[in-house]
Amino acid sequence: MTLLSAYQSGLKEHNLAYELLKRKLRTSIVRQIIRILRPKDLRYIYYSLHKERPISGVIPSVEAIPHTRESFLYIALFASIYRSASRVDIKTNMDINAIVFAWDYFCNMFPGHIRERRPYGRIRPANFDEAWVIAHAIKIGSADLQYCSSCSRNYFIIYCTNYPPICQICALKNLRIKGT
Ligand SMILES: [Zn+2]
Repeated sequence: MTLLSAYQSGLKEHNLAYELLKRKLRTSIVRQIIRILRPKDLRYIYYSLHKERPISGVIPSVEAIPHTRESFLYIALFASIYRSASRVDIKTNMDINAIVFAWDYFCNMFPGHIRERRPYGRIRPANFDEAWVIAHAIKIGSADLQYCSSCSRNYFIIYCTNYPPICQICALKNLRIKGT
């Protein structure tokens, strides 16, 4: 590697670290991607950007994200944007730029309505950590985006949850019909 190309790749990693930390991705995840910055540096940048310490603790699991059927509709929307924006097969790879794009796009769709911290609202992903976890779950096969031929929409399923792997849009519609 020439000095120039080493400099360019270093610059690229710094820039990516900034973009991820700006969106409050927890430093334990950023650490898995960015090699040139020490955990201490990442925490320092996070604090400088947000004037608060980065969130610590266990990375949330995809099963813990939705608390209502409606949340699945929002997750399906996020995952659809992510899949459309991605240049790779999201079932085998994670496309970091596409996750960033999808998260920004998703936030712009619901300005002022996404509750970033507990108690969360129905709109999920509620923060960039969750967006990341969803993209990761699709890659490792613990969740999937599928097409419903009844309502012609994409729906999101998470394996190993209490929610059956069905289209939640149709499920909600059926519940409403039963209720009337
Ligand atoms: Zn459906």
